[in-house]
Amino acid sequence: MPYSEQIVQSVRPWSDKTFSFTLSRPRDFSFENGEFVTIGLKREGKLLARAYSIVSTTDRDHLEFLSIHVPDGPLTSQLVHIRPGDSVWVNSKATGSLTLNHVLPGRTLYMLATGTGLAPFLSLIRDPELYARYENVVLVHSVRTVAELAYRTEIEAIDNAQLRYVPTVTREPFPTPERGGDLFRSGVLSQRLGLPAPDPAHDRVMICGNPAMTRELTHHLKETGWTPTGHRGIGNFTTEVAFVVHHE
Ligand SMILES: Cc1cc2nc3c(=O)[nH]c(=O)nc-3n(C[C@H](O)[C@H](O)[C@H](O)COP(=O)(O)OP(=O)(O)OC[C@H]3O[C@@H](n4cnc5c(N)ncnc54)[C@H](O)[C@@H]3O)c2cc1C
Repeated sequence: MPYSEQIVQSVRPWSDKTFSFTLSRPRDFSFENGEFVTIGLKREGKLLARAYSIVSTTDRDHLEFLSIHVPDGPLTSQLVHIRPGDSVWVNSKATGSLTLNHVLPGRTLYMLATGTGLAPFLSLIRDPELYARYENVVLVHSVRTVAELAYRTEIEAIDNAQLRYVPTVTREPFPTPERGGDLFRSGVLSQRLGLPAPDPAHDRVMICGNPAMTRELTHHLKETGWTPTGHRGIGNFTTEVAFVVHHE
């Protein structure tokens, strides 16, 4: 039985569209910071499960997740109602392409996230190994509304001079209104941070965004001399879509 029953420990709403929750951690559950696992709810004996990036780090005894609420989404229309003590089913195997072993070490690591695509990076930025591998870590989180800047206070409180956090909000007044992908592509991001222009010889990129953003940036990087991690080996950038669009 690959799924085990776990108990909701806490729930934290961020906005009407996003919330976080923690679960007990399955016994013997191992994963790498940055990976995702399939979790779900059982209704009338049937399991409905979806992929979720793990927000918490490998050294914790609980699992934390950041979730979207899709009003007519089969899973999240129900998941949004979970309360402490409820059951959530967790697969025994985690996987993913956003671990530290999916990009070469280097000078600056750019982590570009939209929406709930922030989740894997929340795990990675708490890993001391990250700061041993890169001189600078730039985390860009792009969302539509300020309320969707989940974990903003926690990220700003991380006391590590190597980490630069750049929140951007595209549909409400905010000091940084641009999309993160555009900031990176134009070179404005590195300029504003006083860093050298991104260079595939020295810098690395991790992307976890909506499918359009991930596609656009992948195209841009390939066109400008960057190599994706894949079956040919570890490159200087790696991507994971934050969700898949299901067409009716
Ligand atoms: C590798 C991977 C990792 C993922 N990690 C997370 C995560 O950490 N947190 C999370 O909330 N979701 C994550 N997802 C998406 C998740 O698997 C589900 O799609 C989501 O929970 C919605 O489930 P649903 O059954 O309610 O709706 P679904 O039928 O799965 O989706 C309905 C529609 O909602 C939209 N949608 C789905 N998920 C999102 C999202 N996260 N943000 C914006 N729009 C979305 C899409 O347009 C989709 O067509 C991940 C997906 C993949 C492939």
